[in-house]
Amino acid sequence: MNPLVIIVEDEKTIRRFIRVALETQQYKCLEAEDGMTALSLAASYKPDVMVLDLGLPDMDGLEVIKRLRAWSNIPILVVSARGHEREKVEALDLGADDYLTKPFSISELLARIRVIFRHHLHEQCENSDNPSWNVGLLQINYEKRLVTLSGEEVHLTPTEYKLLTLLSSHHGKVLTHRYLVQGIWGEVTADDTQSLRVCMGNLRRKLEENPAQPKFIITEVGVGYRMVDEL
Ligand code: CA
Repeated sequence: MNPLVIIVEDEKTIRRFIRVALETQQYKCLEAEDGMTALSLAASYKPDVMVLDLGLPDMDGLEVIKRLRAWSNIPILVVSARGHEREKVEALDLGADDYLTKPFSISELLARIRVIFRHHLHEQCENSDNPSWNVGLLQINYEKRLVTLSGEEVHLTPTEYKLLTLLSSHHGKVLTHRYLVQGIWGEVTADDTQSLRVCMGNLRRKLEENPAQPKFIITEVGVGYRMVDEL
């Protein structure tokens, strides 16, 4: 059965643009031009993913996420304007799965949706952890807690290993600073964001050929970090 996507966007041209792009890839689409319609369609049709614009006429898109998450874990891809980093972070922390920055290309949209589907299927089908994962010449063996680069062991501190495994187990997906800090240290204080930056710097020096232009872990400015899906 073709996956069903609900497109929540008040601008008709953007809604059409997204719909046409998705339909060429055999997705089925529902359209909603405001938050209330989105929530009621989501409840009636149980779509497989929601593409959600945050600037809606009747309610904030963040409110849509909050209400939806009260009863549903359907994946949410947020669409937000450039420069609204705080809004993106809030959306992710409320439970959105990823975001796209306007204006975006069709290929970006489709890539994000593919990643979301892959993660969602993964969560549904495989409860047992994969013993290992690799991208390019970087390999992480979770069972042995062993990280290798071109076959050579990389020596990581426990904190660096934790950071790497948080990112790699969500590869392709952006993780917020807050999420990472919580995952590593258990709670969030102002200092921890600085510690995260330091830890990321050290990790990159060990993994990246050129730490100033990282290939494995991408910085999402003002939001967090993303482990690439493929090289
Ligand atoms: Ca809008």
